[in-house]
Amino acid sequence: MRRLRNVKIVATLGPASNDYETIRALFEAGADVFRLNMSHGDHSEIRARHDIIRKIETDTGRPIAILADLQGPKLRVGVFAKEEVELVAGQPFRLDLDEKEGNADRVQLPHPEIFAALEVGSSLLVNDGKIRLTVDECGKDYANCTVTVGGMISNRKGVNVPDVVLPLRALSEKDRADLEFVCELGVDWLALSFVQRPEDVHEARELAKGRAAILSKIEKPAAVKSFDEILKVSDGIMVARGDLGVELPVQNVPPIQKRLVRACRAAAKPVIVATQMLESMIESPMPTRAEVSDVAAAIYEGTDAVMLSAESAAGHYPVEAVMTMDAVAREVESDPTYREVIEASRAGKKATVADGIVSAAREIAETTDIKAICCFSQSGTTALLVARERPRVPIIGMTAIQKTARRLCLSWGLHCVMTGEVTRFKMAVVNAARAAREGGFADASDQIVVTAGVPFNQPGTTNILRVAPCEERLIYKTEPE
Ligand code: PGA
Ligand code: MN
Repeated sequence: MRRLRNVKIVATLGPASNDYETIRALFEAGADVFRLNMSHGDHSEIRARHDIIRKIETDTGRPIAILADLQGPKLRVGVFAKEEVELVAGQPFRLDLDEKEGNADRVQLPHPEIFAALEVGSSLLVNDGKIRLTVDECGKDYANCTVTVGGMISNRKGVNVPDVVLPLRALSEKDRADLEFVCELGVDWLALSFVQRPEDVHEARELAKGRAAILSKIEKPAAVKSFDEILKVSDGIMVARGDLGVELPVQNVPPIQKRLVRACRAAAKPVIVATQMLESMIESPMPTRAEVSDVAAAIYEGTDAVMLSAESAAGHYPVEAVMTMDAVAREVESDPTYREVIEASRAGKKATVADGIVSAAREIAETTDIKAICCFSQSGTTALLVARERPRVPIIGMTAIQKTARRLCLSWGLHCVMTGEVTRFKMAVVNAARAAREGGFADASDQIVVTAGVPFNQPGTTNILRVAPCEERLIYKTEPE
C-alpha cells in the first residue's frame, strides 16, 4: 500500500474511532500514525486500540507508528457548589488550597507549588484561556486575583499559567504509570505534554529505556524560549497549537510554527503540526476554506506530518477528515511552487560522510531517470537524512529492525520496508530492487539508487552508493562482490 504523497497524517483515536473497521478505514484513507491520548480512556481501552492497530499492521503488511500522548502537568481548579459560576470582569476572585466547594468568590486550586511560583501581576488563564485572572496579592496557600476577562467557570476546568516556569515535574504519578504501561504495550513514540526544559525530556528518556522515541510538545512559552536545547535532546517535536495559543497571544503561533518546522528539518527530526487543522469537520463533512489553507500552509512550510485531534477521535466524519488531508497534501505536493520553496530551504551544511552520500543520492536520482532512493538504515538516522533532503523521487527505507520501520512512519516521504538480515551489499541491492518493484515504485527495466553502510550491522556507517537496475534476474545471478 503506497501513499501518493510525502507528508504524513497522524490521526488521534477516540470514541469515534474505536473499532477495527473504522481504524482500518482511517489507515486506508491515509493515516500513517495513530495517536493514543492518555488524558482520555483507561488502560483497557488503550490496550484494545493498540491491539487493533497491530492487527491492521499484520493484515496489511505495512508498518504503522503508534504515538502515546502523556497528559503531563495539566493544572485544574477544584469543584463548585453549583454546576456553573459566572466570573465578572473587575470583580475579585480568590484561589486557595481549601477543598471546600467553590462559588463566585473563590475556588480551590490544589497545587501548592503554583502558589509558591506566582508573583503579583502573573496571569492565570482558565478554561482554554476564556477567563483571565491577574494576581494582586499571594501567599503560600492562596492568591487574591482580579478577573480581567470574565466568563463561565465550572468543575475541574484547566488552568494555564503562561508567565511562570512552573516548579512541576514533567511527569506526574499518572504519567509515570501511563508511560510504563504504553512502553510495555510496545508503542513507538511518547509525546510529552507541557515540556518546559530539556531536563523534562531526559527524565522521560530514562524511564522509557529505549523502548519508545521521545517527542516534545511545544505548548509553553518556556519551551519556545529553550527550543534549541529541547530539540537537541528530543527525537521529534509537536507544534501543539492548542495550548500554545492559550499560553501566548494567538497571533504569535504562526511565526513560531514556521520557525519550529524549519529548525526540525535542519536537525533531521520529524515535526508534527497539530490542533484545529480541520476543526469544523467534527460536525461537518466539508472543511472551511481557511482550514484547507492552514493544512496546505503547514505542508508548504515543509512539515513532516499534520495531525487530526477531535476530528478523528470524537467527530462525525473521521474518515472524511483523513481523506481531506490526503487530498490537500497531494495537491500541494504537485504544485511547482512547493518544490521551489522546499528546495530553497534545504539545509546547506553537510558535515558527515552520510550527509554527503544522501545528498549525492538525491542529485543522481533527480538528474537521471531513477525511480526511487532505497536507503538501508538500522537506527533510522540515515533514512532521516534522506528525508531531510526532501528528494523528488520516492524514498524506500530498508531496515531489519521493526521498531525503526515503525518510528520512521512519522517522517516525511519515508516508505519503510522490512528486510531480512542483510550481510552483503549485493544482497542489499537485490532486496531493494524487489521492494521497489513490489511497492509499485519501479519496473524491472527501471533503475534505483541504493545506499548502505558496509560492513552491515554497524549503525551509523553509511558509506556506499550504487545505481542499480531493478531486473528480476538479479536475484538468481551470482556475481562477485
Ligand atoms: P493536546 O495537545 O491536544 O493534548 O492538548 C495538543 C495541543 O495543545 O495543541
Ligand atoms: Mn496541549
